[in-house]
Amino acid sequence: MQFDTGTLMVVGAVTAGLSGLWLGSVWLHRRDVTALAWWAAANLVYAVAIAGLRIALADQDPLLLQTGLILSTLPPGFVWAGARSFRGARVPIPLVAAGSIVVVAALVAGAVFTTGPLVSATGFLVWIAYLAAAVFELWRGRDEELPARWPLAFLLLIHAAVYAGGIADVLGGGFVEMDGPPLDSWFGLIHFEGILYAMGTAVLMSGLAAERAESRFRTAASEDPLTGAASRRAFFERGERLLLRAATSRTPASAIVFDLDRFKAVNDTYGHQVGDRVLRTFAATAREVLRPDDLFGRHGGEGFAVILPGDGQPAYGVAGRIRRAFAEAARMIDAAEVAATVSAGVTLALPDETLERVLAAADRALYRAKAQGRNCVRRADGPPDEGGSNVIRVA
Ligand code: GH3
Ligand code: MG
Repeated sequence: MQFDTGTLMVVGAVTAGLSGLWLGSVWLHRRDVTALAWWAAANLVYAVAIAGLRIALADQDPLLLQTGLILSTLPPGFVWAGARSFRGARVPIPLVAAGSIVVVAALVAGAVFTTGPLVSATGFLVWIAYLAAAVFELWRGRDEELPARWPLAFLLLIHAAVYAGGIADVLGGGFVEMDGPPLDSWFGLIHFEGILYAMGTAVLMSGLAAERAESRFRTAASEDPLTGAASRRAFFERGERLLLRAATSRTPASAIVFDLDRFKAVNDTYGHQVGDRVLRTFAATAREVLRPDDLFGRHGGEGFAVILPGDGQPAYGVAGRIRRAFAEAARMIDAAEVAATVSAGVTLALPDETLERVLAAADRALYRAKAQGRNCVRRADGPPDEGGSNVIRVA
């Protein structure tokens, strides 16, 4: 079976059209992801443009050819707009259309100076510029780990490379104004690779949106929305695993439980909003002191818990540092002299103990801290106050 450029253009238009319709229907289900609408529009406009160009070549219609050419330079701007919007950045509409305006200018100049290749080369350059900018946007959003991001960037770069080859072709003289490009040229390859591009990008773009939705869903289930600490469920899941790992590797692990002091009074005096700010301040303070591998979770309303490696001594030091840093950070909250404080209980996690029992032991120490005046740290197996010389035996 033999293909010619004209046939490929028809297949390309149909593929881009179907991909656009598919992305559009995905967008209808995920209206919050505006990028999908941009990307759907990119493929739909491309389908119309290629169909127009195909008809123009068949009918030898220069006006339709020019219209198709201008239209065919809108989609890369849409792809870039989608990439920006997906990253949560503002989409400057004039810049989205700027590429096509440049092509119109080239068309006018081409008509005056009869330099047809210049117009095609300008159109290709517009594609390359927008695709490169879209890849840059995908790269800028890389902190959000989504597996489809990199293959999508790769597809956009391949597309840009084919367009770069097209420029070389056109400027090298392989350009016949009212004739389709030969299939074995870069210019012709655009129509072949364009089919793979339309299908591949549609799959990856919708994949990107699905991956984000799934990751946000997972985060929502495992994270307390107010403080960013692990939710109770996530804390127990990860905590059990941490204790198991510590037991099998025969390395000690410890637990700290924190409870804000007289927090009901803070709420009653300054209002719930300030209360919430105090909770967030505590979480931020704790995170500053803790290491990335320490598990930090919200444990009831105004209680927090930490599982960390090492025996009771370092855990005791960590609890004390958090207590002091919090007293400092919560002195003034929203211009109010809240002076909130926290009490803590520390315990060593014995290898055969469940997380529940470990936390219960830490809770008993916390209870003593409350009973002995608050704003202090107590250990499950030792009476002295913070900074005391008690040494905890490792089991
Ligand atoms: P103690 O020093 O003995 O711990 O006294 P307390 O007042 O902190 O203890 P109590 O358990 O009586 O009060 C806890 C308060 O925490 C009651 C509840 O309104 C408040 N609280 C729990 N969760 C939240 C929250 O998400 N936001 C705010 N603002 N307050 C909360
Ligand atoms: Mg409390």
